[in-house]
Amino acid sequence: MNRVLIIGAGGVGRVVAFKAAQNPEVFGEITFASRTKSKCDAIAQELPRPVRTEAVDADKVPELVALINDVKPQLVIHVALPYQDLTIMDACLATGVHYLDTANYEHPDEAKFCYGPQWEYHDRFQKAGLMALLGSGFDPGVTNVYVARAKKHHFDRMDTVDILDCNGGDHGYPFATNFNPEINIREVSAKGRYYENGTWHETEPLSVKKTFDFAEVGPKDMYLLYHEEMESLVKHFPEVRRMRFWMTFGQSYLTHLRVLENVGMTRIDPVMFEGREIIPLQFLKALLPDPASLGPRTVGKTNIGCWIRGVKDDQPRTYYIYNVCDHQECYAETGAQAVSYTTGVPAAVGAAMMLQGIWHGHGVFNMEQFDPDPFLDLVTKWGLPWVETFPDVDEI
Ligand code: NDP
Repeated sequence: MNRVLIIGAGGVGRVVAFKAAQNPEVFGEITFASRTKSKCDAIAQELPRPVRTEAVDADKVPELVALINDVKPQLVIHVALPYQDLTIMDACLATGVHYLDTANYEHPDEAKFCYGPQWEYHDRFQKAGLMALLGSGFDPGVTNVYVARAKKHHFDRMDTVDILDCNGGDHGYPFATNFNPEINIREVSAKGRYYENGTWHETEPLSVKKTFDFAEVGPKDMYLLYHEEMESLVKHFPEVRRMRFWMTFGQSYLTHLRVLENVGMTRIDPVMFEGREIIPLQFLKALLPDPASLGPRTVGKTNIGCWIRGVKDDQPRTYYIYNVCDHQECYAETGAQAVSYTTGVPAAVGAAMMLQGIWHGHGVFNMEQFDPDPFLDLVTKWGLPWVETFPDVDEI
């Protein structure tokens, strides 16, 4: 029987727990663990079948090892925070268990996203006969698989890839983040970066803007950001000449962010306050609405996809593949809004690929290294269908 351990009871963990509980033919026994056990218990009560719940501090390898040895899962699905990637990978190696996550490792003291520290585990996972699947969310995750599908079915050569991430949802607050505020603000306030002709080019944060008309959402301003899936995609598809990532933001969000930055509230270095050290961004997180509480208030849709140009049979071609997801429909099914849903469903699908041996290998892998077709079939069945078009304009 396939036993899984899900770590992290936030918005994404909630969706993974729902999808796992809904699909007993893939996920046998489920253990749901997080730093705060009561959060697992609260979600567990809503699930269609019983799951075991536990407390674990995933920053501590011995605690993780003890839990994994007790549960004896085939796979650990890590949907806590990116700070825990390496400790959980260490614990998986120590116990001989496969690993999956949705976000690349970040050090708490440095806003830097890169796969290097996790790719360094490749040989150890390979020697142990274990598989680690990195970035099985939407972006990274489904976007990587979209690019793999494009290459497999539609292009002899891909020249440019633009990843377009639009959240057209409205939660009614002047400022809130749709997933962990600390992780979200670190990502958005970092310098932009895109890849062209073999090198990375830096841009000032949120300084490059375009407007794009998103299906079922409408025209939105989107900004060039650095995003982690580009690092693995340019490695695995070296033919791509230019790769960029774009995310939409509303004016209210940007104005608040600018003010918070200007007054120092997004800093991640410690400052002294009334005799003790605090990290301004962590304090800000305590003030902002919990992303998990946005579910019932959020209306509208997300639209995330990949716009790819290249050549097929000596003819230039433009290809656009995307998913549209409705916040209220996600909430009705799982009690979570679409940003958590679009991450949690692919995490569960990636886990299903591993548990069923459809995607297999020894070592550390990114999503685009496997056959995209079975993943896209299942992700459609479990709630995230995709649309593909061949636009007759080249540029976004
Ligand atoms: P949340 O902040 O809502 O939830 C994180 C959960 O992890 C919380 O329950 C928290 O516990 C728990 N946690 C934090 N630290 C520890 C620890 N040391 N040990 C055990 N549990 C811990 O985050 P989300 O659910 O929104 O996001 C989860 C992950 O998904 C993140 O890594 C995020 O970066 C990633 N993500 C990926 C996306 C993609 O498309 N690839 C998109 C969105 C998110 P507590 O409540 O006690 O603090």
